[in-house]
Amino acid sequence: MSAPKPQPGILDISPYVGGRESAEGAHRVFKLSANETPLGPSPKAVEAFQAAGMALERYPDGSSFPLRQAIATRFGLDVERIVCGAGSDELLHLLAQSYLGEGDEAIASAHGFLVYPIITQAAGAKIVQVAEDEFTASVDAFLAAQTARTKIVFLANPNNPTGTYLPVSEVKRLRAGLRDDVLLVLDAAYAEYVRKNDYEAGIEMVATHDNVVMTRTFSKIYGLAALRLGWAYCPASVADVLNRIRGPFNVNVPAMVAGAAAIADLAHVERAASHNETWSAWLTHELEALGLEVLPSAANFLAIRFPDVDGKRAVDADVFLMKRGLILRQIASYGMPDFLRLTIGSEEANRLVIKALREFMELSS
Ligand SMILES: *Cc1c(COP(=O)(O)O)cnc(C)c1O
Repeated sequence: MSAPKPQPGILDISPYVGGRESAEGAHRVFKLSANETPLGPSPKAVEAFQAAGMALERYPDGSSFPLRQAIATRFGLDVERIVCGAGSDELLHLLAQSYLGEGDEAIASAHGFLVYPIITQAAGAKIVQVAEDEFTASVDAFLAAQTARTKIVFLANPNNPTGTYLPVSEVKRLRAGLRDDVLLVLDAAYAEYVRKNDYEAGIEMVATHDNVVMTRTFSKIYGLAALRLGWAYCPASVADVLNRIRGPFNVNVPAMVAGAAAIADLAHVERAASHNETWSAWLTHELEALGLEVLPSAANFLAIRFPDVDGKRAVDADVFLMKRGLILRQIASYGMPDFLRLTIGSEEANRLVIKALREFMELSS
């Protein structure tokens, strides 16, 4: 008996596991495990989404033109080089499928986003994960790993789950050290949250080089994770490739109109970024006061390191918080078993996390 067989490498992939949603026994639950925004989407995006429900018999514009136009206007971009997708996930998959094959290698950092190994292996290629420097991507390590087989370098900036980022000078040094036929994929899912003078998401680098792509998402600060919407800014040749292989109607109408409304509501984005800045600083301060180490984060989540002491480990804290309806994320699968990742939540959620962790740390073990 023979059965249908998938392509080589597919069965070696560990499936992506999303943030948990429910906590048994707790009557109120705060989901702080998937980097979703506590402010929700712009009311204007919700309104546009609802209005789109009145004409569901019509196919979308296949090129997502209205949304591409809104993005181009907002960021001052060339509309022809924007490609939209069902989440930035879809675009990352399409990039891997287009530029990687058997015998090729993609490089990512040791604690980089776990989608990169999945899409690399799905394309039949090999993922090379290189050491980081204090949980921050290392340009030297990326460059040292470059071989004749390297086709893509994936960099999440800031990175999930560490929250650390590279300044634009380092990203430029990385690109300058790559061969011209190696594609540098800058995943800037958290760009809108970053408040650092030396940070750039990558727009200028895409505009000035033929081997840099930047991906963005509507899932994080725009609060539209449920709709699955992302976009890529590409060199013309890469946009052409993605447009040949993507589904002809890969972005649905409700997502498209909600995204266009969300991106135009600058005040809402500013509120979300400002909430994040305030509470990220407050949480970091409170966690450090409890004796916990927090990685410096430029995004909307914190990686918290727990002591290597019986009863006080990250897994113990996770169980303790879960019982109180506080759902964080274990990140052992990212090679960080001592850490929990906490998404910055509402004021209420943030205060409850600190209150619970204070009790946890004061428990005699
Ligand atoms: C959340 C996240 C994304 C967004 O994925 P979508 O498919 O757009 O929801 C992309 N990259 C990183 C690093 C992320 O953390």
